[in-house]
Parts: sequence; structure tokens; C-alpha cells
Amino acid sequence: MENLISLVNKLQRACTALGDHGEESALPTLWDSLPAIAVVGGQSSGKSSVLESVVGKDFLPRGSGIVTRRPLVLQLHRINGDREYAEFMHNSTVKYTDFVVDLTLIDLPGLTKVAVEGQSDSIVQDIETMVRSFIEKPNCIIIAISPANQDLATSDAIKISREVDPKGERTFGVLTKIDLMDKGTNAVDMLEGRSYRLQYPWIGVVNRSQQDINKSVDMIAARHKEREYFANTTEYKHLAHRMGSEHLAKMLSKHLESVIKSRIPGIQSLITKGIAELEAELHRLGKPIAADAGGKLYTIMEICRMFDGIYKEHLDGMRPGGEKIYYVFDNQFPIALKRLQFDKNLSMENVRKLITQADGYQPHLIAPEQGYRCLIESCLVSIRGPAEAAVDAVHAILKELVRKAISETVELKQFPTLRVEVSNAAFESLDRMRNESKKNSLKLVGMECSYLTVDFFRKLPQDVEKGGNPTNSIFDRYNDSYLRRISTNVLAYVNMVCSSLRNSIPKSIVYCQVREAKRTLLDRFFTELGAREIKQLSKLLDEDPAVMERRANLAKRLELYRSAQAEIDVVAWTR
Ligand code: GDP
Ligand code: MG
Repeated sequence: MENLISLVNKLQRACTALGDHGEESALPTLWDSLPAIAVVGGQSSGKSSVLESVVGKDFLPRGSGIVTRRPLVLQLHRINGDREYAEFMHNSTVKYTDFVVDLTLIDLPGLTKVAVEGQSDSIVQDIETMVRSFIEKPNCIIIAISPANQDLATSDAIKISREVDPKGERTFGVLTKIDLMDKGTNAVDMLEGRSYRLQYPWIGVVNRSQQDINKSVDMIAARHKEREYFANTTEYKHLAHRMGSEHLAKMLSKHLESVIKSRIPGIQSLITKGIAELEAELHRLGKPIAADAGGKLYTIMEICRMFDGIYKEHLDGMRPGGEKIYYVFDNQFPIALKRLQFDKNLSMENVRKLITQADGYQPHLIAPEQGYRCLIESCLVSIRGPAEAAVDAVHAILKELVRKAISETVELKQFPTLRVEVSNAAFESLDRMRNESKKNSLKLVGMECSYLTVDFFRKLPQDVEKGGNPTNSIFDRYNDSYLRRISTNVLAYVNMVCSSLRNSIPKSIVYCQVREAKRTLLDRFFTELGAREIKQLSKLLDEDPAVMERRANLAKRLELYRSAQAEIDVVAWTR
């Protein structure tokens, strides 16, 4: 029994220390699942007196007209079995010692009928609402106080406890002020349950009167007097074994014990759930940061590697996005090549112009070699546009994937500065790769312009005659069918080159950009990191102070939950 109750007190203390009162906390509310005892009744019905005598010490604000304005939550502790103390949760520096039982007790303000001078009209309702909020919780054991010298039918305690506990499963009816009843009347009918039936038998008590209090009659004497009273009063003799504060305390303890026992599995699962949630959130917040430079560097490298891994997965297809690059090669780039419209470059006028210009003052003799070259080059240079556009399109995709991978690296969420630096470093690398890739793609085009495939032309039917009329002016040197043939040949050659570039430019892009991004995206960043001082490394791991605080709180809470779990496991096994 003592173990059980001290466990409950420990758990409750843990909850209170953590601010887990059930209302604001999203975590499972241990508080709500733990039993508590609340005393309800009308003003001056004897609530505080009963609590004190159950506890065996007078310490609650009490007296005629003095209302306990707000609930006093009290916990009683037993230390090493001999020294005990009690604490009020609203004022935990004040400790009260020497108690009989370990209980959690709530002394509620008295239910009032009318607002007195200086109180707002709503006070009657407000107090009732507040009292109800405590006693309606199923974990609350209600001590319903009714003074014996008043009609039970008017008892506020009975009225309100019946509302929240209609079956009377957790209500203990207590009759106070039995000694103050009118001469010739007694409480036997009430105590034997004939006036109002409760699940648990009524318990009569005789507390200290105002006069006793004024004379500072102590608790031990008051108990003694109470025992004497029931034992020596004829009407109550036969009930004496189940009357008085001590009996009330015993009944409450017994009830509390059975309640706690029945709650243990529920509490265990709440704690387990709480631990799981705390662990999940701690995991989400990430590990705390190492203090030394080596540890910090290691953390940064680890996080960067995570990012790098995710980035690669995007490119390799384990995560989405990489396929957009193939779309560029398979769609955008070929379409852009098709749109080049070489036939415009090869219009009759243009062919004539370039062929004659290339001849210069001396018309060619066998084949317009220079003219061909000029025409072909004028077509091929226009491929530079689509080539550059393809490089840029892939660059944009690679950048987008950096953004994605950054946001998917959970570990980076913890460190905003590192996040920015890593993405900047990645972007810078991608920029460098793009420049390199552009150079290379343009080189491929340039190579095609610088050396033509001889075989292609050898296979063409040879131009033996120029076909022009030599007597005509220089502009009429070549006839249309001759020029058309040149145009057809050039177009065929350009198309051939085009289809070869269509294959080789994507290769170059992958080589310079995609493959490099996979291999060396953060290489430069890593090199720079190695040279940084601890102060600069700390800056990179500048966690949001709110997150640090949250983590510390969660860790503390987790520790408390874990120790609560260990303790409750012991109790569950040994009961
Ligand atoms: P509360 O307002 O419900 O907390 O009531 P208190 O415990 O403060 O008691 C109100 C007054 O009634 C005090 O003066 C007590 O001394 C007195 N009182 C309470 N119970 C008894 C009792 O059983 N017998 C006698 N004679 N007086 C009592
Ligand atoms: Mg009181």
C-alpha cells in the first residue's frame, strides 16, 4: 500500500514538475489517470477540518467565513518510512511534516448559495463550475461533506457528487458536526443509510469545534476526544467501529489502493506511449551538438553526406526528379534542333551569295570547296543555341534537385546556417559545372565546323561542270539546278552532323554536369571546411535556441517518464 501511494505521489510530482496538468499538454496526461481525493461541501461544512484530521495535522486555511479561494492541491510524502512531509503545489517551499498517510488531497472552496457583499454575482456559479471540473474526472475520489446539523436534502455535497458520480462508486459521504445536533435528535438514520443511500457507508466525524481551535487543542487530543465521543454516546455505540476520522482515513486508503491497482496497466501504457512520443519528437529534433571542433566537423560532414546521398538518389531514380534530365535530351533538345530550319540558311540566294563570295575573284574550277565550307559552317554554328539551352535546362534541373534534397535532409532543418551554406556551395559547384559543360558542348560544335567528313562528299556525284554561262556577269555564274544540288548536299551533311551532335551533346552534358554533380558536388566545401576554426564551425551549427531548449526539456521529461516506468514496473511485478 505505501509503495503504491508513494509511487502515485512520485508520478504526480513528476507530472507537476513538468507542467503536465493535462490541460495544455499534448502528451498523454498522466495526471488525469492518477487518483486524487477532493473534499466538497458547503461553506463551513467542515471540509478543511476533515482533510486535516484525515492527514492528522492542522495546516489548511480554515475558520468561520474563511473560504478556501482556490483549490489547494496537497501531496503527502513519507520519507524512509518515518519522517514525512507535505507540500502544497502552489507553494512548494513550505513543507509540513509528520503525517499519517500518503495521499493526494484537494481542498476545494466551499459551495456557496449567495454571493456576499463585495463578491460578484457570478461567484456562486464560478465556484460550482470549478469544483465540478475537479470532481468530474473519473480519477477523483470525492469526500462529500454534509453537516449533521443541517437537512441532508439541502446538502450541496450530495447534490453535486450525485451529478458527477450517479452510482456513488467513488463518493464517500461524511457527516460532520454530529456533536452539534439539536438535543433529542441524532444522525443514526443518516449514518445507517436510511436517509440517503450511498454505495459506501456514511462515516460520521467529530472535528474540533471553533472553541477547540481557539484553545489550540491538538490533533492527537482531538482524535482521542472523537473516539471517546462515538464509544460513549449511546446512539452511536453500535456504529463506533466505523465512525471517526481514523476510520475515514483507513477507508480512503483502502479504496485508493484498489483504484491504483486497477489503474496500473493503464498508467503503464500511458507512460509507454508518452515515452514513444517523446522519443519520436527528440528524434525529429536531432542529436545535440558536439562541443569540440572534431565533433562539430564530424557532425557537419555527416549531415553533408546525408544530403549528398539524398541528392544522388534523386539523380539515380530512387527519388523523383532525375528523369527530367532525360526529358531534356529526348525532347527539348531534339525539338530545338529541328526548329533550326537550315533550309532558310540554304535558300537559293544565300547559297548563290556564299558560293560566289567564297570563290572571290577566281571562280572555282572543280568544286566550290570554300563555298561548301561557308554554307556548312553557317548552318552548324546555329546548333550552338540549342546546345547551350540544353546545358542550361539540365543545370536548372540539377539546381532544383539540390533544393529538394536540402529540404529532405531532416538533419539540415536543425541548422539554418549550415543549410544555407551547403546549398550555396552546391549551387556554386553546379555553376562551375555548367560553365565547363557549355565550353565542352560548344567545342563539339566547333569541332564539326573545323573538320568535315571527307567520305560524305566523296560519295556524292562529282561536279564536273560549273553549269554557269561564262559570258554572263559574275552573279550569274551558276545556274539554279547547280545551286540546288549544292543546297541539297549541304543540307544532307548538316543533318548528318546534327544527328551525331544530338547524341554527343547529351553525353557531354552528363559527363560535365550530372556525373560531376554526383561525384564532386560538395568537394570544394569539404576542403574549405577543413580549414575552418572552431568558431566558424560553431556558426554553421547555430541551432535555434528554442529548439535547444525544447530538446533539453524533452530529454528531462523523457528521463522522468523512464524512471516512472521503471518504478511502476517494479510495483506491477511485486503486487
Ligand atoms: P470549511 O469551510 O468547509 O473548510 O469548514 P471548516 O473546516 O473551516 O470548519 C468550519 C467551522 O466549523 C470551524 O469553526 C470548525 O471548527 C467547525 N467544525 C467543523 N467540523 C466540526 C465538528 O464536527 N464539530 C464541531 N463542533 N465543529 C466543527
Ligand atoms: Mg475550508
